[in-house]
Amino acid sequence: MKTYKIAIQKSGRLNEKSVELLKQCGLQFENYKSSLISTVRNFPLEILFLRDDDIPEYVQDGIADLGIVGQNVLLETGAKVCTLQNLGFGKCDLNIAVKSDSQIQKPSDLTGLSIATSYPNLLAQYLNQNNINATIRNISGSVEIGPGLGLSDAIFDIVSTGSTLKNNGLKSIFTVMESEAILIANDTISNAPQVKELVERIRSVLRAISTKYVVLNVKKDNLNAIVNLLPGVKSPTVIPLYEEDWVAVHSVINEKDFWEKINLLKLAGAQGIVVMPVEKIITP
Ligand code: ATP
Ligand code: ZN
Repeated sequence: MKTYKIAIQKSGRLNEKSVELLKQCGLQFENYKSSLISTVRNFPLEILFLRDDDIPEYVQDGIADLGIVGQNVLLETGAKVCTLQNLGFGKCDLNIAVKSDSQIQKPSDLTGLSIATSYPNLLAQYLNQNNINATIRNISGSVEIGPGLGLSDAIFDIVSTGSTLKNNGLKSIFTVMESEAILIANDTISNAPQVKELVERIRSVLRAISTKYVVLNVKKDNLNAIVNLLPGVKSPTVIPLYEEDWVAVHSVINEKDFWEKINLLKLAGAQGIVVMPVEKIITP
């Protein structure tokens, strides 16, 4: 059986979550900081630990079959791969920032100015699409010192917290793109059965992460109102309680509107609400 290769970041912001996701998929492997490659014991897969910038091209060229990387990095490299799944972590905004006292406010104000970035291709694409004529200064690290040094009028970079910007006398003016980690695959392998199996496992973990298991007690009179609030995976499970006229309802609810739902359930007569994490949700 062919052994596939998945490339993940060796160290940095995506490493830990990538390793965690693969482990949640039931893959058993050692995560030695010193090794470049790790063999999964219970699945035909090897894990390559690489710099994130190299991952899209490695996947495009077939050195790795799959990869986990930020959308920002994928778009910057322009590698031709297929995106199989958004992963919901590594979320960040790529923003334009300027000196705190600058009058620059909107994209068109950048005309004729210079912008420092380590994402020259992404920025060029954005400027082109918006017909903005500006100079791109490509620098590889510490982009935020650009304006202070007189190197550029603005910067284009990932903005995590405002504090790095503030410490450098900058403010963010608008977002050019939002990014998150994605699972990418070489064009030729995305239909292979083992790859499909892995993608299905990843999806079942992602579904579970955004879902909570709820158990609650309710008087039979109020059951309909509760059931209407709780669709569940198929429909809620209703179990009689020892005390007559009462039932326990088991269901799942979405993390997104979790507190709203809990409050509605309480109003509808739910008591003794217990909420538990879900590990995996397998769909047909
Ligand atoms: P490498 O050594 O692998 O090249 P790096 O220094 O380029 O790492 P990291 O800072 O570890 O990269 O970020 C990796 C990715 O994590 C980014 O490309 C982006 O997709 C994502 N990310 C999410 N949040 C942030 C953030 N607050 N700051 C920077 N990157 C973030
Ligand atoms: Zn990098």
